[in-house]
Amino acid sequence: MTLVTLIPGDGIGPEVVDSARRIVDASGAPIEWEPRQAGAEVFKQGLPTGVPQDTIDSISRSRVVLKGPLETPVGFGEKSANVTLRKLFETYANIRPAREFPGVVTPYSGRGIDLVVVRENVEDLYAGIEHMQTPGVAQCLKVISRKGCEKIVRLAFEFARAEGRSSVACATKSNIMKLTEGLLKRTFEEIAPEYPEIESWHVIVDNCAHQLVKRPEQFDVIVTTNMNGDILSDLTSALVGGLGFAPSANLGSDVAIFEAVHGSAPKYAGKNTINPTAMIGAAVMMLRHLNLFDQAAAIENALLCTLEQGTLTRDVVGDAGAASTTAFTDAIIANLGNESASWPARSYRPLKMPEITRDPVMVRPAVRRVAGLDVFVEFGGTPDELGTSMQRLVESSPVELKIVDNRGTRVFPATGTPTDCVDAWRCRFVMRDSAAGLSDADLLTLLSRLAEEHRFTHIEKLHEFDGVQAYSKAQGED
Ligand code: NAP
Repeated sequence: MTLVTLIPGDGIGPEVVDSARRIVDASGAPIEWEPRQAGAEVFKQGLPTGVPQDTIDSISRSRVVLKGPLETPVGFGEKSANVTLRKLFETYANIRPAREFPGVVTPYSGRGIDLVVVRENVEDLYAGIEHMQTPGVAQCLKVISRKGCEKIVRLAFEFARAEGRSSVACATKSNIMKLTEGLLKRTFEEIAPEYPEIESWHVIVDNCAHQLVKRPEQFDVIVTTNMNGDILSDLTSALVGGLGFAPSANLGSDVAIFEAVHGSAPKYAGKNTINPTAMIGAAVMMLRHLNLFDQAAAIENALLCTLEQGTLTRDVVGDAGAASTTAFTDAIIANLGNESASWPARSYRPLKMPEITRDPVMVRPAVRRVAGLDVFVEFGGTPDELGTSMQRLVESSPVELKIVDNRGTRVFPATGTPTDCVDAWRCRFVMRDSAAGLSDADLLTLLSRLAEEHRFTHIEKLHEFDGVQAYSKAQGED
């Protein structure tokens, strides 16, 4: 028997999880369930993470979780228990398939949509590093690492191989965010040749959204950053019938968490009307992860036969004639052993998880130099007042003021264009003698000098690694 931690979750969670569990048991899959708590009830008991230690212990033992949706009740704890689980166990990949279902009529029916979004799951804006720079200006750090990119890109190609898929598209906003989004694009282009049998291409993420609505059947696997993937994968689930049909897997090197994309839909809790397909799909993905391919195929076929027979839940057919959650589940169990007439079978192979070093350092430059300093300040005056004051303060120092910008647009020296400024500014200082590098002692002296007259909010060193500028230019900076 294989141990699986079972988290029923909140709202409609217990109903969909019970449906999936009954079907998995009926398929004969040798699973031993270990039920554990997480979510709303745990928050209400006063545990701010929403995830008790015995749930963490169970997952550490089983390394596989089937999980219902977890609610983040307002007023109890700040962090989502879902995000806590994903981060605690470093499930860095979120796999979200979207495939057309028989009997589920959408504007795209008959187009043969069968794609998978592979979303990076722990980095990007979801690192959750936010600060108010001034009382009126907020900032969120977009953290993208070479290691994170390498893991997600390799996983996307390995996933394509495991499912016999023929192409992987990388969707980024690298045209604007050249260092962060661009890191995923560059890593993708470097790794793609290692998978010569799989076609690879890059697409700008906004065009990807456009293409997904216009011609979704052109996509197979899409690999993307966390925020892009969050948005694109909700879009792709809508193409095939909505959240009731969208399963997902959170995969890491140690632990895998399988769940529906949807939330706890509290208004339907206990009504026995919701669609359990997304959670059943998640259970099928879990069985494949456990190399129980026959049972996974049997459940998938039984689900498809049930849909082909016209047994459909309220979200598809409305109230009249809808099957209840339990009746839909019973119909799937009755169909175990039957084969779908309409679903082209895939041949699945075990997914090979990428092996990436545990060493935190992925890129080691031979030469590094600090060419200057960005000092972010809070200031209520005009660009000229700030610029001339900064110029005066650094007159006899090793750096000079290059520009002042406001939200990334140069405002000093003036460009003659109207910029509506806020009270958070960046002052960019660069070395007067371009050969030398700034030492930390130089930086601290400079900072104490500026702090005599200005309220600084944070600083960033302007690095060069192996002679290459490791920072972006402001709009209007030469
Ligand atoms: P939601 O629970 O996904 O529900 C939004 C709507 O989607 C429902 O009102 C319903 O649409 C439809 N829907 C969702 N699941 C369905 C199903 N199985 N069958 C049929 N229809 C379904 O989103 P929410 O209302 O924004 O979030 C509720 C709570 O869930 C929040 O506390 C949120 O934080 C949490 N959440 C958890 C997860 C997770 O655990 N992974 C994910 C997302 C949200 P109609 O109203 O049109 O019928």
